[in-house]
Amino acid sequence: MPHRNMHATTTLSSDTVLTRVGRFASPGSPPTGAAGTTIAAAHVYANPPLVRASTVLAGSLREWRGRAALPTHDKPAAAYGRFGTPTTQAFESAIAELESAHRALCFPSGLAACTMALLALAPPGSHVLMTQNVYWPVREFAETTLVRLGCTVEFFSEIDADGIAARLRANTSVVYLESPGSLTFEVCDVDHIAARCRAAGIRVVMDNTWATPLLFRPLEHGVDVSVQSATKYICGHSDCILGVAACNADTWREVAGMATRFGQTASPDDLYQGLRGLRTLAVRMRQHSSSATYLAHWLAARPEVLQVCSPVIEGHPGHAAWKRLYDGASGVFSFVLRPMPEPVLAAFFDRLAVFGIGLSWGGFESLVVPVPSGDSLAMRSTSGCGQLVRIAAGLEAVEDLARDLHQAFDAMNLALALSTPAQAA
Ligand SMILES: *Cc1c(COP(=O)(O)O)cnc(C)c1O
Repeated sequence: MPHRNMHATTTLSSDTVLTRVGRFASPGSPPTGAAGTTIAAAHVYANPPLVRASTVLAGSLREWRGRAALPTHDKPAAAYGRFGTPTTQAFESAIAELESAHRALCFPSGLAACTMALLALAPPGSHVLMTQNVYWPVREFAETTLVRLGCTVEFFSEIDADGIAARLRANTSVVYLESPGSLTFEVCDVDHIAARCRAAGIRVVMDNTWATPLLFRPLEHGVDVSVQSATKYICGHSDCILGVAACNADTWREVAGMATRFGQTASPDDLYQGLRGLRTLAVRMRQHSSSATYLAHWLAARPEVLQVCSPVIEGHPGHAAWKRLYDGASGVFSFVLRPMPEPVLAAFFDRLAVFGIGLSWGGFESLVVPVPSGDSLAMRSTSGCGQLVRIAAGLEAVEDLARDLHQAFDAMNLALALSTPAQAA
């Protein structure tokens, strides 16, 4: 599909854009920055060089004075490793382009991107509204740290887009969305919510980790800051922790200022992995997406499964909004297993041989994780009393994944039969 913003005039597809982004911090001008070194304009490297630095030497007193006069959060012009190197610029400019953002900022983790955006945009004493299915460490941050700053934090159902108008207050500073939401994958009507907020002068921050800018670009829908865990699909190989916030012109300075004061930065090595991951994001995503879509429907037909939580499933609360807003599905969803005694549940998990049991997603390997019911406010209303299982479809052959689940269900059913007293025939 054509990438809608930066390359619309030349109609480059997202696949092509991904192979080129970040090559230069700004096209035509070689990176100048922490290194102070310029990369000769004649040398266009397919990969921006990995630059590690703390100290960046100035060539003269005049240059030093010039640098010192720049705002510290104006990262590309700064002169100390914490404010970034050309590798940082390459990654941030790549994300800014992909997300249709004014500028992007990297963080040492996805969670740091989420919390810094909130700290920057929610002044003490203000009211913050969040989707109830928000990633639980963000909810915990809001309920402890934001509350300690005198903020009032309120959660709303992401399914009820109209209900949000009634919840906006005179002192509402931020509406924080996660779509599709962690664990239960409801989808927000982002256009509608952002329009309401914009009219009231309220900032909208959205966690776009599930979709990546390949499948959804929040800023094109009125969102002010799009945060994501680049740990997941962007890095894509289960070997780094990295976050990024893509900001519009209205919010960038505030988020950058807060990040700078808190000393937020990311390692050039991890940023390099993020850039490398971007190159294959589109092809990887197609595999994640087709396998997850297949498995979601396959699981929905299993008698052991009470419910499949994925926007690709018709009847899921996010299905209509997802079809309207998104360019596809990624590879993460969840399902609810019928209530089982723990040893029977263990028979299922322990028998899986292709799927690993573990946190995170977006890597090459398929994962399952049993989710504690306390992790999702949304789940309490949707899943009843079964065991919620999050599933991340990796890059393995989908037949192997389905076969793995099939034999684990067989093991579970055998364990169940052995654990229950024989029924009278
Ligand atoms: C993993 C995740 C985060 C946090 O990212 P880290 O890189 O692990 O800190 C934030 N939001 C969502 C939706 C996530 O899945």
